Amino acid sequence: GPEADRALVADLLRAVPDFPKPGIRFWDLTTVLADARGLAATTRLLGASLADGPADVVVGIEARGFLLGAAVAQELGLGIVPVRKQGKLPAVAASRSYELEYGSATLELPAGVLEPGARALLVDDVLATGGTAEAACGLVEESGATVASLAVVLELPELDGRGRLAGRPLHTVLQR
Ligand code: AMP
Repeated sequence: GPEADRALVADLLRAVPDFPKPGIRFWDLTTVLADARGLAATTRLLGASLADGPADVVVGIEARGFLLGAAVAQELGLGIVPVRKQGKLPAVAASRSYELEYGSATLELPAGVLEPGARALLVDDVLATGGTAEAACGLVEESGATVASLAVVLELPELDGRGRLAGRPLHTVLQR
């Protein structure tokens, strides 16, 4: 059941100190995804975000959201749309920049794949400050779709990413 799945994911998860720079505790899902039972458990737990409301399509956020999102889409019988870093997509529907700790980043949504009115299930690995997730939600909404839920494996509550999501449904597997 979900509690056994959650315990397995927690057990497989690895924290790497001082990456990508001193003082940052990096949550590494590599060890979860490389494990067949870990991947299956993570996929089931993220797919349970449908309890927030039905979805028509999965949106995966670059890059670990691609791995997780594709598995979730397959589990739910849905397709997947990638939200990518600037300059990777040949045809762009919408583009959104946001501030990082140092500098800024831009995310893009591909043209011609997200139907207006579609209910999107957004997937990523970690919700930290929420800047990435907020930008991805904005892209989806700008294209006329709605956010059914944002599903993440790990929420870091200290950084209050949830507060930046302005009430959009958030589905979290674990908090650290
Ligand atoms: P943010 O925009 O601050 O919510 O950062 C979210 C993005 O950065 C996610 O796509 C994560 O993959 C990554 N990230 C931020 N902080 C961490 C962390 N402590 N451990 C692992 N990944 C992180």
